[in-house]
Amino acid sequence: MQQTPKGLRLQIALLGRVNAGKSSFLNLVTGQSIAITSDIPGTTTDVVEKAQELLPIGPVLWLDTAGFGDKTELSAKRLEKTKKVLDRADVAVLVCEGDKIGAIERKVIDLAEQKKTPLIVVFNKADIHKIKNPEGAIVVNSLDKSSRDRVLTELKAALIRLCPEESLNPPAILGDLAPAHGTVVMIVPIDYEAPKGRIILPQVQAIRDCLDHNQAVMVVKENDYQSVLKNFKKQPDLVVCDSQVVHQMVEQTPPGIKCTTFSILMARLKGDLAKLVEGAEAIWQLVDGDRVLIAESCTHHAIDDDIGRVKIPRLLLEKTGRQLIIDHVSGCEFPGGLAKYNLVIQCGGCMQNRKEILSRINQCKAAGVPITNYGVCLSALNGVLERVLGPFPEVLKMYRKENNGKRTTKN
Ligand code: SF4
Repeated sequence: MQQTPKGLRLQIALLGRVNAGKSSFLNLVTGQSIAITSDIPGTTTDVVEKAQELLPIGPVLWLDTAGFGDKTELSAKRLEKTKKVLDRADVAVLVCEGDKIGAIERKVIDLAEQKKTPLIVVFNKADIHKIKNPEGAIVVNSLDKSSRDRVLTELKAALIRLCPEESLNPPAILGDLAPAHGTVVMIVPIDYEAPKGRIILPQVQAIRDCLDHNQAVMVVKENDYQSVLKNFKKQPDLVVCDSQVVHQMVEQTPPGIKCTTFSILMARLKGDLAKLVEGAEAIWQLVDGDRVLIAESCTHHAIDDDIGRVKIPRLLLEKTGRQLIIDHVSGCEFPGGLAKYNLVIQCGGCMQNRKEILSRINQCKAAGVPITNYGVCLSALNGVLERVLGPFPEVLKMYRKENNGKRTTKN
């Protein structure tokens, strides 16, 4: 892996009316010609992503959206796309033609407010428009390359001022769950589902996080775990496994050792662990004919024993004993019509950022549908949820209170 993954980059949506010069602005700040620019309104029709290192902020991802406000049939669709982009953007930049804040710009400002997305305003084409009141905005002629340093300085200052702390400095993945100089064991199955020649993103990120926190990491396959554990003179501070072997990890890990799964770590990092644990309770309330949505955030090619397509549905039917209708959706867009579901099971979202997962949780909340994620769901179905919540005392307390200490699986 040579680049910071998308989910770890600060995501900046670039918005504005058709031909306001969004793409030219992007060319200026990135110092490249990566977006198509044209004098013909509406040339850009889809979101164009561009990664950039923007020090001292760090890795960012620009989301150059299609402009809206023209009279074409596509305009309404573009506005819809813009709304979706705000579900994942940590911050938005609104590019205006001169200092014109018309109905279109107000619409964007309202949308950003609704989605709780901080907004930076850019008055573009300053060479041809007289900017009367530049207060709070970045004033620029995007075609003037000599202004790049000044514009970048102003942009970075605005990003630092407006972005939430957690967007600029994401919290630890697991480094806070073990002491400095402690030891973390990671159980990583290498079966035919594992990608060739590498391990998957959440595992890579977890190893890096341990190193950032001065912890030692031992990575083992599930078949070697027990013998490796016996050889430890001092027991490890934390064990983390792939959700698919959670049952085995819990069976083989002495009660005094904290253990959890990569997917639960991701639920805490990117979403709301308490909410996703609460959502898992709905598994046991399902009745015949209920509908469950399994949401994958990317379009990876599913193989024979795919976790979302095969393993979770199989376990869900087996452990609940219900006849359920199970739908799947994949890709970065969450479907509408959530109210018809009785439960949503979201993947670990390793390709997504926290804003996007939180937005999915909020959409479910608005539709009155419980939501959980793969790791929490698999641990619940395996009857080990209480044990793997051990490293998170607050959530464990809530879980015990809600369950009255009675149930970790269906009786
Ligand atoms: S389906 Fe979700 S967890 Fe799996 S690879 Fe895609 S984004 Fe990551």
